[in-house]
Amino acid sequence: MSEKYKILSEKIQKIADIENAAALLNWDQEVFMPEKGGQFRARQLSTLSGIAHDMFTDTEIGNLLDELNNEQKLSFKEQRNIAELKRDFERRGKYTRAFVEDMSQAISKSFMAWQKAKKENNFKLFAPELSKLVELKKQEAEIVGYEDQAYDALLEDYEPGLTVKDLDKLFGDVRGELVDFVAKIFAAQQNDESFMYKHFPKDKQWDYGIYILREMGYDFDAGRQDVSSHPFTTNFSASDVRVTTRVDEKNLSEMLWSCIHEGGHALYEQGLPNEEYGMPAGSAISLGIHESQSRIWENNIGRGLPFWKAYYKSIQAFFPEQLDKVSVEDFYKAMNIVKPSLIRTNADELSYHFHILIRYEVEKALIAGDIKTEELPEYWNSKYKEYLKIDVPSDSEGVLQDIHWSHGSFGYFPTYSIGSFYAAQFYAQMKKDIPSLEDELSNGNPKVALKWLRDNVHQYGMQYSAEDLCVKLTGEKLNFKYFMDYAKEKYNGIYNL
Ligand code: ZN
Repeated sequence: MSEKYKILSEKIQKIADIENAAALLNWDQEVFMPEKGGQFRARQLSTLSGIAHDMFTDTEIGNLLDELNNEQKLSFKEQRNIAELKRDFERRGKYTRAFVEDMSQAISKSFMAWQKAKKENNFKLFAPELSKLVELKKQEAEIVGYEDQAYDALLEDYEPGLTVKDLDKLFGDVRGELVDFVAKIFAAQQNDESFMYKHFPKDKQWDYGIYILREMGYDFDAGRQDVSSHPFTTNFSASDVRVTTRVDEKNLSEMLWSCIHEGGHALYEQGLPNEEYGMPAGSAISLGIHESQSRIWENNIGRGLPFWKAYYKSIQAFFPEQLDKVSVEDFYKAMNIVKPSLIRTNADELSYHFHILIRYEVEKALIAGDIKTEELPEYWNSKYKEYLKIDVPSDSEGVLQDIHWSHGSFGYFPTYSIGSFYAAQFYAQMKKDIPSLEDELSNGNPKVALKWLRDNVHQYGMQYSAEDLCVKLTGEKLNFKYFMDYAKEKYNGIYNL
């Protein structure tokens, strides 16, 4: 390792220290902070992110990156670290401090307005703040720059390299194939899921969630689980990766699959190489790849029959009154009910993508200036009628349901679908590489899946881009066909189509 590379790494790792300290304050805010702490917490977080921004955009870092970029003797990993840092440096350097502050203020106001608007079911309370935020996001796209569409510049923040062109093709496939397939399921005889909504005591659910996380291979010596209103995963290094969950005593699914989902995110973070702390090679690739790691556990494994052949006895032992008379096959069918829904986070794994498709179409139209903010509710409701055949009874359950826009996150939603599609493609490859995979899962050995993910995804961090990793692993770029094949094989069986 050259002297310059060492100097740069030390600087980058110090910035990571500041950012991870901020992440810990954020975690505390969601999990433990008393209500009155909010005002000063916002200030503390803003100070820390300002310090990190100044440290990262320092000319000395720019000079080191330029010099190292021309150095011949770097290893592949070092080259990739430099390339990723340079990309980040150039992007962040384009923002003036004034713009960053304007954006941060607009987000704070917009978030408060959204909370009130959602609570009071009154979109008009949110519309003016949202309009300002959309204008700022358009400005941001101009600042950052793009080749084809302004929306591409926003996507770049979450899924580097992903463009409107790619997404139009992908969601064109969703419209062309998934919509018809799901319509057939909507029309089919529905399975019983009533036992999922019996009374499931909170503490027992909690203990079962912990048990399942351990079985997946989550390391509680390098993490912990707490309760929060929206489940999430956060990390301060690969040795401290925390998850949260929520428990609804009248709905077993809520806790169970949120634990498995966040567990999947956490296993990825715990599997990143500690020796690359703070560097791209020690960080997750993109939101899409992160989501592939949660979805592969939640859906491909955790909503699969093989997995429950192994674990059904254990969940029956936790909840004998509720599940004793239910067979594993019926439990499997109940966890895979497909039906139209209003709320994205409660949707099944198939119609979920209609929710994302709708948000994608709405965001694209907003950023391109094709619709005005005031027209959003009507536009939204017409899309729900078109794709999910349902009427939206209130804006709180419609256009106001998600937090993302109030945070200024435009271009984020598509990564949820991308993640599921990557998951299906990776799972198909995993089955090819491990012919006995589903037998292993049936025998209570999900750690074979973890080992495959560690070897093929986690250990590399950002050494490969999302697309390169996908090609390296599966021999081709992201291909929607794998998701459709998975969906057809699974749901034709469940619904006797
Ligand atoms: Zn997730």
